[in-house]
Amino acid sequence: MASLILKPGREKSVLRRHPWIFSGAVERVDKEPASGATLDVLSFNGDFLARAAYSPLSQIRARVWTFDDEPIDADFFRKRIRSALAARRALHIADDSDALRLVHAESDGLPGLIVDRYADALVLQSLTAGSEFWKEIIADILLEQTGLKNIYERSDADVRELEGLTPHIGILRGTIPNFPLTITEHGLKFNINISEGHKTGFYLDQRANRQRARALAKDKDVLDCFCYTGGFTVNALAGGAKSVVSVDSSADALGLGRENVSLNGLPEPEWIEADIFQRLRKFRDERRSFDLIVLDPPKFAPTVSQVDRASRAYKDINLLAFKLLRPGGILFTFSCSGGVDANLFQKIVAGAALDANVDAQIAEHLSQAADHPVSLNFPEGAYLKGLVCHKTI
Ligand code: SAH
Repeated sequence: MASLILKPGREKSVLRRHPWIFSGAVERVDKEPASGATLDVLSFNGDFLARAAYSPLSQIRARVWTFDDEPIDADFFRKRIRSALAARRALHIADDSDALRLVHAESDGLPGLIVDRYADALVLQSLTAGSEFWKEIIADILLEQTGLKNIYERSDADVRELEGLTPHIGILRGTIPNFPLTITEHGLKFNINISEGHKTGFYLDQRANRQRARALAKDKDVLDCFCYTGGFTVNALAGGAKSVVSVDSSADALGLGRENVSLNGLPEPEWIEADIFQRLRKFRDERRSFDLIVLDPPKFAPTVSQVDRASRAYKDINLLAFKLLRPGGILFTFSCSGGVDANLFQKIVAGAALDANVDAQIAEHLSQAADHPVSLNFPEGAYLKGLVCHKTI
């Protein structure tokens, strides 16, 4: 059996069941396997610690499938996928929705594998050598366990490069579902472009937060910043907002946003194709103000190295948003940057309020929806941070 032997004393994180083996902890690899194939992870003394997928090109040299002495084969993946599906059922995550994340990678014990369900189609994203190695077997098991027929592959995330993998987009099983696909989220309809949309097509992680915004939107003048295809916009309108202004820099996203509003028979918001950093300044100069503002920017800091620049960007938009917010108004502010943790994000938002000369309180802490769980052994899985701030009167 191929094996990866750790340096002396480097077994601690594996013993705590963290799934990543960094290259710096590796003493040597014996009987080096193919990229993505399975090897045993051994302590320097030769004790069995885990069974993992080998990523010869990545800084994360191996990702653990199991900490038990069990074979990694189709039955293993069947067990893990069944367990992921059972968790979604047990938690009643999306009772009046037909789009949800079925497999959330490391947090479901399946490093590198994302599987989202959009109505009758599954979208699979493979991010690592290990998930790529088992992809065909996993695809068959997904069909068997869900009873669905179509799987579309969206393995085009940049992180694949670090694993030496090229992008792969297209049908993995079945036929091309009709484009766009229409899904239901808490009773609202959305058209999803699974072949070109962000991530696998939709930001499923914001489902519960969109619903929360819907509950608070009644009679409010709402500003939805980074609106993408109108997730928060549609919810605010459905919640009875008095007016909604929706801003994004992508014309394609706004086009789909328009469809989503009319799909639900809602009144048209004001769509603005613009850069948020500039547009918020323009609103400030025009002395416009709002009762409810959503700030849901893209990942400004994917890794820790970009944290300083990202912090300045978060502070900038939050400061402007606090200024545009009327007294008594509500700000939904988010960060999905892995490099910015919840503490730092709260500090940035606090600094923004201070510099905007605004008194505000945190009313709620938000995070990713429950179909994006976080394994207790893998805190990195908690990437989405949100604060609902109330500007005092
Ligand atoms: N709130 C959305 C998801 C937002 S994703 C939802 O619930 O579905 C982030 C969005 O920010 C993308 O649509 C992207 O086009 C947009 N974006 C990125 N940089 C931007 C900028 N500088 N100005 C305006 N929009 C931007």
